[in-house]
Amino acid sequence: MNRIEPERIHRLNDRPLARGQYVLYWMQASQRAFWNPALEFSVDLANEHNLPVLVCFGLTPNYPEANLRHYAWMLEGLRETAQALHERDIGFVMRLGNPPDVALSLAQKAIAVVTDRGYLRHQRAWRQYLAQKAPCSVIEVEGDAVVPVETAYGRAAVSAAVLRRRIQPLIPRFLTPLQERAPRVRARFAEPTLDLTDPQKLYALLDVDRTVHPVDLPSGTKAARARLCSFLQKDLPLYAEWRSDPRRDVTSGLSPYLHFGQISPVEIAWEVSRANAPGASVFLEELIVRRELAINFVWYTPSYDRWEGLPQWAQETLHAHATDPRPALYSLEELESARTDDPIWNAAQSTLVRTGRLHNYLRMYWGKRLLVWTAHPKEALRIGLYLNNKYGLDGRDPNSYTGVGWCLGLHDRPFPERPIFGRVRAMTPEGFTRKYGTTVEKALL
Ligand SMILES: Cc1cc2nc3c(=O)[nH]c(=O)nc-3n(C[C@H](O)[C@H](O)[C@H](O)COP(=O)(O)OP(=O)(O)OC[C@H]3O[C@@H](n4cnc5c(N)ncnc54)[C@H](O)[C@@H]3O)c2cc1C
Repeated sequence: MNRIEPERIHRLNDRPLARGQYVLYWMQASQRAFWNPALEFSVDLANEHNLPVLVCFGLTPNYPEANLRHYAWMLEGLRETAQALHERDIGFVMRLGNPPDVALSLAQKAIAVVTDRGYLRHQRAWRQYLAQKAPCSVIEVEGDAVVPVETAYGRAAVSAAVLRRRIQPLIPRFLTPLQERAPRVRARFAEPTLDLTDPQKLYALLDVDRTVHPVDLPSGTKAARARLCSFLQKDLPLYAEWRSDPRRDVTSGLSPYLHFGQISPVEIAWEVSRANAPGASVFLEELIVRRELAINFVWYTPSYDRWEGLPQWAQETLHAHATDPRPALYSLEELESARTDDPIWNAAQSTLVRTGRLHNYLRMYWGKRLLVWTAHPKEALRIGLYLNNKYGLDGRDPNSYTGVGWCLGLHDRPFPERPIFGRVRAMTPEGFTRKYGTTVEKALL
């Protein structure tokens, strides 16, 4: 039982193991059959008790802010995961319902419930609810951060520099491969389950916005690993020099796979470290320091999706400039349909709507411009989160709240004062065009 670092393991209640027929793994954040500490912990526990492992997934018909684009992509990935679990002799059940209630119903016959860790408010509330109600031990195993959030730092880090100092010495200890172990007892369950092979039937069960169409990007662990492999061969050597240039798409494109837990960040970091390519350390800064700064932010900041989550200095300066004249005010509808007078912004917004993706540098520009076109910075935050989470395949992630928050001063330092932005770092169309010329929007459209 010691192949998973103890810092990843959190006991959510003090109930003992019950008498039961299986170890239940309630899968929610880490939607994968490989390099998944919660799953491997379940296998080890089951082997110790000569029991099989049953994985369950609760399909909520109305996940917060999710629409057909997100569901279609997730269900495609889960279909592969269910198949991979089956090939590993591990059971898989998916049922419609409130996820912790689905887990709770199956917990009645489990010796213990193991789950993964989610960092957002509703994910934490779900786990607490289950821990209170389950008749057995509930154990959470954190597998979607390289360094577990509370080990990395015990409070909200004000900047990347603060977290970097703490996290860097810890990385080698957590950057180790996780081998799958075979279950000793083969799963043979007759539990009723939804059929993942018929997506249209599953879509019919959902109570979501269907106007945001699914995107043409393969989902699942195999696709994530293929993308990682091609990134290592082609783009990693160019990453340090070209990652900020939206005209050369040399970034990994792994954010949706990470968001749905289809690939482990430890696996990515492990492979990148082994590749020993130029650019590896720059990439690991983004994957570990920046990504885990976002995890740190949502974990320690209860108001991570609200104005109050921004640093005090940023709130004050943006508020002081809230009445500065704006060159134009656009409604949500105009913004959503990319009808501003800025062709770069329109191209970025259209790309996000069409593909569910947006290059990091463009995303920064996209978020910053909202400040200029909304009546109050609170409105910019609200609209930024709404559009990012609605259209981004990787939206509704700790990175979403941190990325949009960064546009309003989060984790950044004050800059010389200027209209509208106050002391928050500004980005302008002139600056953008000086850097990248006028070809970006043509490349995007
Ligand atoms: C306004 C705004 C909104 C954003 N919304 C999201 C979002 O909804 N979901 C999301 O995952 N990211 C978001 N980001 C962060 C960043 O833009 C994306 O993570 C990145 O563009 C994803 O592309 P990639 O996988 O090719 O990144 P790569 O450059 O290949 O980086 C690899 C991984 O490192 C992490 N990473 C890279 N850049 C950052 C960063 N600046 N901050 C935190 N982590 C980073 C991501 O997990 C990424 O997948 C946002 C940034 C901004 C400025």
